[in-house]
Amino acid sequence: MATLADHARAQTAPALETLRRLARQPSVAATGEGIGECAALVGRLFEEAGARVAVHTLPGAAPLVIAEFAGESGRTLLFYDHYDVQPPDPLHEWTSPPFEPTVRDGRLFGRGVGDNKGDLVSRLAAVRAVQAARGRLPCRVVFLVEGEEEIGSVHFGAYVRRHAAALRAEGCIWEFGQRDVRERLQVTLGVKGICYLDLEVHATSRDLHSSLGAIVDGAGTRMAWALASLKDPTTGRVLVDGFYDRVREPGPRELEATRRLPFDEEELKRQLGVDRFIGGLTGFDAHRQLLYAPTCTVCGIESGYTGPGSKTVLPRRARAKVDFRLVPDQDPEEIAQLVRRHFARFGLDVSVTLLGGERAHRTDLDDPFVALVSGVAAEATGREVVVLPTSAGTGPMHDLAAAIGAPIASIGTSYWGARAHAPDENIRLADFEETVGLMARLIERFAEVA
Ligand SMILES: [Zn+2]
Repeated sequence: MATLADHARAQTAPALETLRRLARQPSVAATGEGIGECAALVGRLFEEAGARVAVHTLPGAAPLVIAEFAGESGRTLLFYDHYDVQPPDPLHEWTSPPFEPTVRDGRLFGRGVGDNKGDLVSRLAAVRAVQAARGRLPCRVVFLVEGEEEIGSVHFGAYVRRHAAALRAEGCIWEFGQRDVRERLQVTLGVKGICYLDLEVHATSRDLHSSLGAIVDGAGTRMAWALASLKDPTTGRVLVDGFYDRVREPGPRELEATRRLPFDEEELKRQLGVDRFIGGLTGFDAHRQLLYAPTCTVCGIESGYTGPGSKTVLPRRARAKVDFRLVPDQDPEEIAQLVRRHFARFGLDVSVTLLGGERAHRTDLDDPFVALVSGVAAEATGREVVVLPTSAGTGPMHDLAAAIGAPIASIGTSYWGARAHAPDENIRLADFEETVGLMARLIERFAEVA
């Protein structure tokens, strides 16, 4: 008799065709290209598999797809994915065109195959494998698929609050997951938040002759002062009053798990092109800071003249973009307010606009769901599994966790060489097949929990 693993293997080839179909459909959140079409296609893929599908909309937002598969038990496993992708630029650096998914050397190349259309399809294939093996799913499975992940999940919080009842679940698998350089599958339990600010200084009514610099400060100088006031240059500590008040330090279990993670300091420095980390941090201290410390980064500055040669000008206006990566329990709106107060206190007339905010989230390492997911991953792959208490990146995990109150873990089809967001984005076909089997097993085991 065919086992679940046999059914999962049998699903891999048709799933690969489904993935090619999905990856051929552009869905660039940044420009809006193909977003509506892709949402409709995702809805059709779920309908073809027997799900009840709702495609929701909000004014000015990319559609949100919720697909529900009924099951024997009342328990619900929720999958969070996104159908949008990063822009494919620079186009000339792709070996094959980004929206013509192509297999080479056991890998599938194309924009979005790794981030995260491959994950989405591997999970759908797992549902089909379990359906084929036993007729009916042993638990409910719900897919939540958004179309704005790559632009900061702008409307995700509003969507999730509105449809919280449909998203009720006892556990959630998040969108991403990779195999590290030693081929160990990573299970990630958290993300940082973000507070993204647009700063503007209007110093004078127009650009002035810089001889007036004797009596007037230009916008460029004022912006430089404002930015420099945010951070201690030696330690990197953020100097905004109250910034650290709500920071929840990592617990002993999180630190212990972090110590077990690989952290190749020299290799990382080589990759990043730096010879030291902020504050001269080394070893575990640097790793701890990467995962658990909030950040302050000037992402861009614009003011005055930067063309060839010299132009003596006192610029009227300066603009900067600054992001703060937040940790639990910092609140982006509050951070924006603290920054406004900080500038005001130093007499710096800077207008501060909050462009986007998300709170950080970390699932409890001791939650039984974490043991279930990492246990199934180890069984299904026969390899060591690495649990990361958090990623250094950001995603809308807090919004979803707040709405469903269930543990969230991220595990997926990707690997160390997947080139997400870059030209020649790819996944390995063997990883794709492995993930289909793993997810099918997870659905079965999740349903068995009393
Ligand atoms: Zn991405």
